[in-house]
Amino acid sequence: MPVHQFSSSSHSEKMLYTIITYDSQIFFYKNIYTTFLLLMCEELTLVDDAVLVVGGGIAGMQASLDLANRGFRVYLVEKSPTIGGRMAQLDKTFPTMDCSICILAPKMIECFRHPNIRLLTCSEVEEITGSAGNFKAKVLENPRFVDTEKCTGCAVCTEKCPVKVPSEFDMGMGMRKAIYMPFPQAVPRVAIIDKDHCLFFQKGVCEVCKKFCQANAINFDQEPEEITLNVSSIILATGLELYDPTPISEYGYKRHKNVLLSLEFERLINASGPTRGEVLRPSDKKHPHRIVFIQCVGSRSQQKGLPYCSSVCCMYATKEAILVREHNPECEVHILYMDLRVFGKRFQQFVSRARDEWDIKYVNGRPSTIIENPETKDLLVRYQNVMNGHIEELRADLVVLCPALIPREDNKVLAKILDLQLNERNFFKTKDPLLTSVKTSVEGVFVCGYCQAPKDISESVTQASAAAARAAEVAVSAVMRG
Ligand SMILES: Cc1cc2nc3c(=O)[nH]c(=O)nc-3n(C[C@H](O)[C@H](O)[C@H](O)COP(=O)(O)OP(=O)(O)OC[C@H]3O[C@@H](n4cnc5c(N)ncnc54)[C@H](O)[C@@H]3O)c2cc1C
Ligand code: SF4
Ligand code: SF4
Repeated sequence: MPVHQFSSSSHSEKMLYTIITYDSQIFFYKNIYTTFLLLMCEELTLVDDAVLVVGGGIAGMQASLDLANRGFRVYLVEKSPTIGGRMAQLDKTFPTMDCSICILAPKMIECFRHPNIRLLTCSEVEEITGSAGNFKAKVLENPRFVDTEKCTGCAVCTEKCPVKVPSEFDMGMGMRKAIYMPFPQAVPRVAIIDKDHCLFFQKGVCEVCKKFCQANAINFDQEPEEITLNVSSIILATGLELYDPTPISEYGYKRHKNVLLSLEFERLINASGPTRGEVLRPSDKKHPHRIVFIQCVGSRSQQKGLPYCSSVCCMYATKEAILVREHNPECEVHILYMDLRVFGKRFQQFVSRARDEWDIKYVNGRPSTIIENPETKDLLVRYQNVMNGHIEELRADLVVLCPALIPREDNKVLAKILDLQLNERNFFKTKDPLLTSVKTSVEGVFVCGYCQAPKDISESVTQASAAAARAAEVAVSAVMRG
């Protein structure tokens, strides 16, 4: 039963439910507190037991739902206009090959509708004071210039808006309007105006969206709003970014049109992506017949400064390769790898099936250069075959680079705000990576997901539940002390 909602019933009653519904881990606390409640009856002075979750990817959403389902109130702060994180951009997910958005969308809606979760999108944490059990967080909610209460998500404004710009969600391969929703399943389903490209903000003209919006939701005068939240504990789940391989000039990313990043490829092969799921070469919109995936681009390299393994690339490249063959069995697919790091449950079988059933060709090779034919834009991948030491070549119509995955710059900002320690690669440092992988250097602040260390979706979700359990402990002891 959802309890401790943002509205309704008396506070003391909500607290009683909280205590009653919380799981056996804190059975001891429950007993003491329930007795205390019964003795004290109605008039109680209560400490706020809410939890702040920063980052609305799969990790942040899971942590929020775990807490909310146990009766804790959650403020879920997401920087972008929608929750969902990277998982929303993926086509299928390894190792199950489930449709990513089909798994994610119900969770996004659950977060949005949950009476115990207050979702703050377009928002960022500015300042945090206090300590475990009693933090005060200042959050800046940036304007959408669309009234969230009035907008029905009808998308008429986006149809009518005359300005087109590259879509961040589609990795710049598709277009969006100056007023837009990042993707069809975005949560909340409310439009947002991109001030930097809107004709009204830039030139004082247009207002077409306002004219056509029947809900009267456009509000060009919206201002940023500062919100102060009292929370007992904090969970950070800021996720990952892709390393930009442009400086590795021998791979020609951004110079050669048919060299793509893995996440660009995910959008290309996705049915709601810029090509409606058809894998087409950017140079001539033709179907490729030879695709080469290149692993460890910038990762596991002392030279490039990213010596660690990103943990998911061998598996997602295999997934993407299978998808290619599913779409077009005629297309030849090679994966050039350094080592195949497929350590999870049934991961090796996944790769074996890719090799044996889908005829994907794995080559242990390090590419030295990618040469583009200036007329056809076809590519030649030159590499050293690690098994025999020979320099060999592969012809390709399309090359997909699997770059290092890195923590976001946001980690540095949050580390400063919270006086937290980062490791040498800017992942949040945990107290003891072996035994308490969710505890940070600051009491009452926890981490989960990719911002702590490279990991896949299922590991992110597991760690999110662990962080939620720890955050709940702090919240309960704060209530007891209060
Ligand atoms: C090409 C590619 C394919 C992949 N395929 C698979 C796959 O098939 N299977 C699999 O298991 N894994 C896959 N992964 C890995 C998977 O994407 C990650 O494991 C997962 O997204 C991690 O979730 P997260 O919530 O930690 O981070 P994210 O998904 O990155 O979410 C983080 C969220 O935090 C928000 N945020 C960041 N900073 C702030 C801030 N300061 N304030 C507020 N909000 C903030 C971001 O906007 C984002 O919404 C793939 C990754 C890539 C790049
Ligand atoms: S702003 Fe208006 S027109 Fe645009 S989606 Fe919302 S309700 Fe529809
Ligand atoms: S006012 Fe801005 S957002 Fe609205 S239709 Fe014109 S350009 Fe698009």
